[in-house]
Amino acid sequence: MFCYQCEQTAGGKGCTKVGVCGKDEDIQSLQDILVFGLKGIAAYAYHARGLGHKDEQVDAFMHEALFSTLTNVNFDLNRHLELVLSAGRINLRIMEMLNNAHTATFGHPAPAIVPRGTKAGSGIVVTGHDLPALYKLLRQTRGKDINIYTHGEILPAHGYPELRKFRHLAGNYGTAWQNQKKEFDEFPGAILVTTNCVMIPKDSYKDRMFTCGIAGVAGVKHIENQDFSRVIEKALSQPALSENPQGTLSTGFHYTVVLGMADKIVEAVKTGKIRRFFFIGGCDGAKPGRNYYTEFAEKVPKDCVILTAACGKYRFNDQEFGDIDGIPRLIDTGQCNDCYGVIQIALALAKVFECSVNELPLSLVVSWYEQKAVAILLTLLHLGIKNIKLGPTLPAFVSPNVLNILVEKYNISPIGNVDEDLSEMLGK
Ligand code: SF4
Repeated sequence: MFCYQCEQTAGGKGCTKVGVCGKDEDIQSLQDILVFGLKGIAAYAYHARGLGHKDEQVDAFMHEALFSTLTNVNFDLNRHLELVLSAGRINLRIMEMLNNAHTATFGHPAPAIVPRGTKAGSGIVVTGHDLPALYKLLRQTRGKDINIYTHGEILPAHGYPELRKFRHLAGNYGTAWQNQKKEFDEFPGAILVTTNCVMIPKDSYKDRMFTCGIAGVAGVKHIENQDFSRVIEKALSQPALSENPQGTLSTGFHYTVVLGMADKIVEAVKTGKIRRFFFIGGCDGAKPGRNYYTEFAEKVPKDCVILTAACGKYRFNDQEFGDIDGIPRLIDTGQCNDCYGVIQIALALAKVFECSVNELPLSLVVSWYEQKAVAILLTLLHLGIKNIKLGPTLPAFVSPNVLNILVEKYNISPIGNVDEDLSEMLGK
C-alpha cells in the first residue's frame, strides 16, 4: 500500500511507522473497525432505502465517518473511539428503520414452523437477505407450479404475513451460506442470489444460478429490474425436485411476539423456571472452531432460553429444544438486522426487572464473520453491554491496545472451552 505521508510503499525500506500514512497501528485499527462497521450500516441503509425509508442522520454520519479516515485528517485516538461508538449508535438507528420498513411492507412476523427439504416438482431456491426481491419472485411465480424455497439468511421470510400468504413459499432448503457449493450442487432447480453472502459457484450449477440487486458474480446471469422470467424459465426447464422432507425449523419470533409473552416470561424468571437467557447467534462461516456454537447450544441447561438471529443459528436450529411453560427454548428473532429485536427484548426485560441490561440473567455469545456483524457488535458496545463472548477468533484488525480498551471497558473476551464458558456465564 502506498503511504501518502512518506511517499513510498508503507512498511517498505525506510518506513519507520507501523500502518499507513504515519498513523500508528491503533488509529489504523480503529479506522478499519469504523470502515467495516460503515459497510454493515450501508447494507441495512440500502435495504431500507429500497423500501422508501431514508434517514438524514444516517447519511450525514456516513459522510463524516468516511471523511475522518482520509489521509492526514485525524490522528486523535479518542476521536476515533467516539466515531466507532457512534457507528454503533447509527447502526441501531438503521436496524430500527429496516425493521420498520419490513413490518410496514410485509406485516409483523408471527411464529412459523417451516418445512425443511424439498417437495416434488419444479423449484427455485432463494438466498441472501432481500425480502422485496423474494416478494416479487413469489408474485411472478404464482400459479406456475414452482415451489420457492428459502436458503440461509432469508429463512425469517416465512414469518411475515405478506410473504407467507403465498402457498408456494414451500419451505427452507439447506443451511447457511458457506454450504452453498454442496447444497446448490444437489439442488436441481434454479437458484436466486439476492445479496451476500454468496460463494463463488461451481461450474455444475453456475448456469442455473442468477443474481439480482446488489449481488453479482462473473459468469452468472444478473437479473435487472426484478423481472424474474429467466429464473422462472430455467426452473421449469430443469428436472423436477424429489419429495425429500427433512423435518421442520421454527422462525418468526419478532420482538413484538416475544414481548407479547412478557408476562409469562417474567413470571417464569421470577419463579426460577427460566434461569438464564443466552443470545447465541451472528454470522456463520466455514472455520472448524464454529462447532463451538453447536456444542454450546446443546449444552445450554434445560431451564434456560436461547435467543438467536442471523445465519449462525444454522449451527443448531435443526434441533428440538422444547419449551418452558409454553415459552419456546429456541427463539429465532430473524435476520442479522433483527438483532434490533433482541436488543428491544433485553431493554424491555431490564425495564421490568428495574436493572441494567448487564444485570439481567442474559449472556451473549456472538459469532462474527463479515461487516454487518462488526456494525452489530459496535451497537452492543454503544449500549454499554458487557461480557460478550466473541468468536470463532477475535478480528485481526483489532490491535493489542484497542483490544485492551475493549477488555477493560466492556470485558469482551474470545470464546474458549464450552464447559468453562458456560460455567462462567451461569455463575458456577
Ligand atoms: S448473517 Fe452474516 S454471514 Fe450470514 S448471510 Fe448474513 S451477512 Fe452473511
